[in-house]
Amino acid sequence: MSFNVEEIRSLFPVLHQEVNGKPLIYFDNAATTQKPLSVLDALSDYYKKDNSNIHRGAHTLADRATRHYEKTRSLIRDFINAREEEEIIFTKGTTESINLVAATFGRKFITKGDEILISTMEHHSNIVPWQMLCEEKEATLKIIPISDSGEILLEEFDRLLNEKTKLVSIVHASNSLGTINPVKEIIRKAHQFGAKVLLDGAQSTSHLKVDVQDLDCDFLAFSAHKLFGPTGLGVLYGKRSILETMPPYQGGGEMIKEVTFEKTTYNEIPFKFEAGTPNIADVIAFQKSLEFINSTGKQNIKTHEDGLLSYANELMGEIKGFVPVGTAREKVSVLSFNIRGMHPFDVGMMLDANGIAVRTGHHCTQPLMQRFGIEGTVRASFSVYNTKSEIDQMALAVAKIAKIKNK
Ligand code: PMP
Repeated sequence: MSFNVEEIRSLFPVLHQEVNGKPLIYFDNAATTQKPLSVLDALSDYYKKDNSNIHRGAHTLADRATRHYEKTRSLIRDFINAREEEEIIFTKGTTESINLVAATFGRKFITKGDEILISTMEHHSNIVPWQMLCEEKEATLKIIPISDSGEILLEEFDRLLNEKTKLVSIVHASNSLGTINPVKEIIRKAHQFGAKVLLDGAQSTSHLKVDVQDLDCDFLAFSAHKLFGPTGLGVLYGKRSILETMPPYQGGGEMIKEVTFEKTTYNEIPFKFEAGTPNIADVIAFQKSLEFINSTGKQNIKTHEDGLLSYANELMGEIKGFVPVGTAREKVSVLSFNIRGMHPFDVGMMLDANGIAVRTGHHCTQPLMQRFGIEGTVRASFSVYNTKSEIDQMALAVAKIAKIKNK
């Protein structure tokens, strides 16, 4: 498909509204992306025509719902190039996917004295589960430092890696800085020490082609809502050979083969990790998000977003008092900044008064903010439906705001 941003915008109903008397400019895509009409229609179609519980029913509706549900699994397999559909587990989101690994792989394979490596730029959801696990197991959480530009210091990573390292859990693209980490190299090095690697793909999957076989990651976690899909749905990819050795996550229906009061045997993967009635409607609607991405083309999306980011850097860089946070060479379309002398929250409120939606604060990366010695940032994050003229509007508004304290 040739790339036409106006055509793409027409697919997203939410974009066509005024906020505070101004046309909405939605620059909070790293928090969540908007949903095309096809996703919204798929949700209501499911409830109107197919609503039924999956996998167990003998009737037509249950069969239809099951086939639609499993089709999404197959599309996700293609999307990340997993070897098998069974390696795709549905969860509530990135957070639950990481917690699942901590609660199952972690509880079984991490023991006293082991080490887990994460980086300074992790989201809280890739910090806290490991802190909880390390406390329980008397293992140690080690932190890979980053440079002033917001890039992982690979020589420090090399120094931290050793035979005690059992897991490296790392963000592929930072939600706060936009930095794209050199994960292929990190994975290769970690594997030399026998450590497994989990990639937090919450931000990378929407901007980059993520190929789990090429990267050779052991786990990949991501959320549908950052990929133009519904909230409350996520994915955990894991290599079959590892998933099969992991104990179940939650107990209940669906995850069992046979239950007696004496002993329960567990289902095969992926069902072993999907206890209870899943988020059927959202899984089915997520197909439409993937179809949207596939028909738009990942490369078209990336080229458009890269163009927006460099345009924004150029315009905003001219504003007196503009201080960028995170200036890595390889970035997804996230622009974090501060205005000298001003609190990020105040800047965000003033932008909102202009109809411009950005995020302010620590972005669930408090240790990263501490690393930079700041309370937070203003974060503008761009997606496929954003335009250069929206960036013009933001730059004009920020220039006016910045003048208050930077004459
Ligand atoms: N990791 C990163 C890098 C994120 O950006 C987010 C969402 N802000 C998460 C993890 C958590 O995702 P969710 O809230 O969808 O579970």
